[in-house]
Amino acid sequence: MYDLIIIGMGISGISASIYAKRAGMKVLLLDGSAPGGTINKISNIENYPGASPITGPDLAYKLFSEVNNMEIEYKFEKVTSVSLGKIKKVITSNGEYETKFILIASGRRPKMLGLENEEKLFGKGISTCALCDGTLYKNKDIAVVGGGSSALSEALYLSNLANKVYLIHRREEFRGESELENQVKAKENIELILNNEITKLKIDDEKLTGIILKDGKSLNITGLFVYIGFIPNTEFLKDTNINIENGYILVNNCQETNIKNVYASGDVTKKEIYQIINAASEGAIAVINMNSKS
Ligand code: NAP
Repeated sequence: MYDLIIIGMGISGISASIYAKRAGMKVLLLDGSAPGGTINKISNIENYPGASPITGPDLAYKLFSEVNNMEIEYKFEKVTSVSLGKIKKVITSNGEYETKFILIASGRRPKMLGLENEEKLFGKGISTCALCDGTLYKNKDIAVVGGGSSALSEALYLSNLANKVYLIHRREEFRGESELENQVKAKENIELILNNEITKLKIDDEKLTGIILKDGKSLNITGLFVYIGFIPNTEFLKDTNINIENGYILVNNCQETNIKNVYASGDVTKKEIYQIINAASEGAIAVINMNSKS
């Protein structure tokens, strides 16, 4: 039996595992895919003290190196459900593990537009990762959709590769950081298309060839990067009584959920600020509180 099972190997889960290991807890990290979580998809991190500027994958690599150096146990297994009795159980694609505490740090995944053919075109013109796929569009005309910091920062990154970047946002005002907005507006090869939405994807030979906008305008592009927010990864909690609002887990200042010995941290929780820096600190706060209460 473990003292603590952490679901998710993003920066929040890994930070928590470091604190848990140092506190002498028997800890297991679980993740369905690669370590690093969302940061793997960030092209350039300029606001994480001590490490920036750094690419997301490089930061993920550093975090994973710490897990290995500290001999923290981890398994790449997808969590399918949890059982939250006195002894907690975490059920994965490969097995079942018992633990005293659970920390849910499962993050969130990109939201998609919901347009016809969008799924079919994923990886064939549509992407949610500029860093992974940007070089495929060198000197091409592409579009980014969204009005938050992700859309702004990734449009900037892509403008250094592509011939032209259309930044399409459904409103007049951006919700992203104003510094990023200023940088975007200063870029000659970024064209803002505001108060507009994509209504149709044009497809030929199973590849994206263009988009049609709400005002009827048609753009010939070969790449479309979707940055319109996220969906929290909480499906595996559907049979529990954990308090969840719009998919996000509700926690108190100690990162505790409404269920005893079940904590949550990082982007899967409902909060005001979704930054790498507070995701990391919330993981640490959760473990410190577990130890002060046990
Ligand atoms: P976000 O802030 O939630 O922005 C999502 C954007 O997508 C909004 O502008 C929204 O429009 C638009 N949108 C949502 N659904 C849409 C739809 N169906 N069709 C068209 N547009 C749609 O998401 P984010 O930009 O990924 O940022 C998430 C968090 O990460 C934020 O807290 C952000 O500050 C942080 N972040 C920080 C940095 C950084 O460099 N510091 C970089 C990336 C992300 P409306 O505005 O009209 O709602």
